Amino acid sequence: MVQPYHHEPFTDFSVEKNQLAYQEGLRTVEGYLGRDYDLLIDGEQVTTDEKIVSYNPANKSEIIGRVSKANKELAEKAMQAALEAFKTWRKTKPELRADVLFKAAAILRRRKHEFSALLTKEAGKPWREADADTAEAIDFLEYYARQMLELKNGVPIQSRPNEFNRFEYIPLGVGVIIPPWNFPLAIMAGTTVAAIVAGNTALLKPASNTVIVAAKFVEVLQEAGLPKGVLNYIPGSGSEIGDYLVDHKDTRFISFTGSREVGVRINERAARVNEGQIWLKRVIAEMGGKDTIVVDDEADLELAAQSIVASAFGFSGQKCSACSRAIVVESVYDQVLARVVELTKALQVGDPTNRETFMGPVIDQSAFSKILDYIEIGKSEGRLVAGGTGDQSKGYFIQPTVFADVDPEARIMQEEIFGPVVGFSKAKNYDEALQFANRTEYGLTGAVITRNRDKIQQAREDFHVGNLYFNRGCTGAIVGYQPFGGFNMSGTDSKAGGPDYLLLHLQAKTTSESY
Ligand code: NAP
Ligand code: MG
Repeated sequence: MVQPYHHEPFTDFSVEKNQLAYQEGLRTVEGYLGRDYDLLIDGEQVTTDEKIVSYNPANKSEIIGRVSKANKELAEKAMQAALEAFKTWRKTKPELRADVLFKAAAILRRRKHEFSALLTKEAGKPWREADADTAEAIDFLEYYARQMLELKNGVPIQSRPNEFNRFEYIPLGVGVIIPPWNFPLAIMAGTTVAAIVAGNTALLKPASNTVIVAAKFVEVLQEAGLPKGVLNYIPGSGSEIGDYLVDHKDTRFISFTGSREVGVRINERAARVNEGQIWLKRVIAEMGGKDTIVVDDEADLELAAQSIVASAFGFSGQKCSACSRAIVVESVYDQVLARVVELTKALQVGDPTNRETFMGPVIDQSAFSKILDYIEIGKSEGRLVAGGTGDQSKGYFIQPTVFADVDPEARIMQEEIFGPVVGFSKAKNYDEALQFANRTEYGLTGAVITRNRDKIQQAREDFHVGNLYFNRGCTGAIVGYQPFGGFNMSGTDSKAGGPDYLLLHLQAKTTSESY
């Protein structure tokens, strides 16, 4: 009997006991800052001379840790280990594979605030955002373990008196897992454990900005009893070992979450059949977003403004689901814009280790420059009404920025900025607002603020995004409640945290026995 699934609750940080628990976590993390971490290949720790150094984006001089760096030779060694481990792991009972995830979830829950504090330090996540990231990681473990238990006997099919037929799911083989830095625990853990609980073995190439939290999570899986070779941890350069592993003849599938540019590249390279390769690779690719909140004139305008601000500036806008476009119907445009500007100017930006901070830094130097470049572009495409400046003297801080009166076709309304920038466009009416909303090459999330049932139905049919929300913001999907993934250039619509997700890591086998 599989226990029912409930998502991990968010921590209420207004409670003093919880504040102390987070601060205790922060002290634990501060106790191990600057340490060295190894690769993990076939259960062995491997140290290299070359390192990836992880810095605190809120305080550039603070080193979070240094991780050994895999090259092609070590990536090949990891591939061989994963191929070998697949021979036994694919036959390990699904219940035992699920148990590793359940135990890892228990360990994470026990060390919840330590992991959240590490996310604050390594990725610049304020308390609430870090807490949600850790909770989501726990949810993925709990959810995919249950999903495996539900799928383990396959699906009943018809048999006849003289034959017995079965339809079962078997794993694929070795998967290459390539997550982004923006949910350095949740997405990294979710994509990794989905692959392995399904009976595959995996090579995890974490995002280079957030290698330490990935190293710590791999330790958790080891502690939870994952056998050697099932998961190999091989941080390294995306272009060097990323391409090598994507091209590898023995790679059976690739699970990627990240930018459109890299996702398209992986998809193209994976399509090529290389020498010795005897299958077509499967690609799961979740990519960028350019997500819109539509505000109707029959709407709670305060809710609209609050939703836009929270969705645009939570984690400095560095979410694939972040609201970067607000499309507002003409008659209420000025009012919503004015309230958004007011709320934005009141946001507290600064050190994410302070509980009061709403918004911390952006992830690194190149993100900082790219976002400021877009802000310059925005100044010629719209009217700057809040923010617009950055300061990188200590960390990579950018003020939450609002542009008004932008053409929905303008660059800042079309290209993913991945920073705290939102543009406003005016629509003549609701129909036009939905048209504007759909006019991007992406299709990840969107939200509609309206009190009108017919308009909700209209958006349900015509607003083409993988995750559509009504009368709330467009971020914050919860595992098992809002399965997540996008249309068009946002990806393959894999719906992480949803009932179909594990099937992407499995293949169906029919057996028919004649009596
Ligand atoms: P990214 O630059 O595309 O990197 C993602 C991962 O790909 C990293 O691990 C990166 O390694 C690796 N990589 C880079 N080049 C590669 C190559 N040639 N072959 C194989 N792997 C390669 O994205 P990011 O900056 O980390 O993350 C932000 C992006 O992710 C945004 O576009 C955001 O919208 C998207 N995202 C989408 C979702 C979703 O569910 N749709 C969720 C979260 C984020 P290095 O770090 O070593 O470069
Ligand atoms: Mg990157």
